[in-house]
Amino acid sequence: METTEKIVEAYVRHVKRWATIPNIRCDAQQEIDLLAINPVTLERYHIETSVSGSQVYSKLTNKEFDPALLKLRVQKPKMRRTLGYFISHKFGTKAILDKLSEYGFKDGAYKKVVVTWDWTPDAKATADAQNIELWDFRMLMRDIATSIQHSRGYFTDDTLRTINLFMRALVDAETPPNTETSIPRRSKATCNGSREQDLAAPYWVYRNWIRGRARLHMANCSYCNNGSGTQGSLNSVTGEWKSFKSETEAKVFLDSFDYDDAKLCGACMTSRTRT
Ligand SMILES: [Zn+2]
Repeated sequence: METTEKIVEAYVRHVKRWATIPNIRCDAQQEIDLLAINPVTLERYHIETSVSGSQVYSKLTNKEFDPALLKLRVQKPKMRRTLGYFISHKFGTKAILDKLSEYGFKDGAYKKVVVTWDWTPDAKATADAQNIELWDFRMLMRDIATSIQHSRGYFTDDTLRTINLFMRALVDAETPPNTETSIPRRSKATCNGSREQDLAAPYWVYRNWIRGRARLHMANCSYCNNGSGTQGSLNSVTGEWKSFKSETEAKVFLDSFDYDDAKLCGACMTSRTRT
């Protein structure tokens, strides 16, 4: 079982509190990643996980899926990142449908979910039309972290223990450096070449994945400093700065998160609109 699949199962069990059955082998060398049942509502879920380590192929796309291209080594990663691949290869094959019905999953009476690292808007539109839910792996990680942060119990699950440790370490390391013991931050020299352009951007949005929080700033705000923030690093492990040419674009981005705490910076943006 892949690490990402273990994390998804940990999420479903611990955050959703559903019962799970992972890794079910089917005929024709196929496999179901995860089945889940909500014990309260008895809703059923077929969940497939596809989280690519590659930055090029991280997003799920709506590009045309061609089974012939799946056999070509250079085309395979691209094909496996299409929604069509999931529809025809993961949700719709006879071997998988037969196995699902053995588990009492009748067509139309269960939900299909793809867990992935972001997606394109057209992939989302097609998924909606096909009744397929898309779950963002980054949000799952965040929800696990938030959910276990306040639990005092000891985790017997290795995945949860690891995530808990990792998150505690990140939050500690992100505390503003006012002592010599703080860890060295990523230097500006490692930032990419678009930095020069970024410096001209008038608007910036910072989002903190761990806290589920986002703020829209003007470049000259003291909390922003052209996307350097107050800690002097362009990006950190728990969050990210993104630059925008217009306020409208920045607002669209800000509203695209599923965060309760996503708003205009109280220091630079609200004072500006008042004057
Ligand atoms: Zn600001």
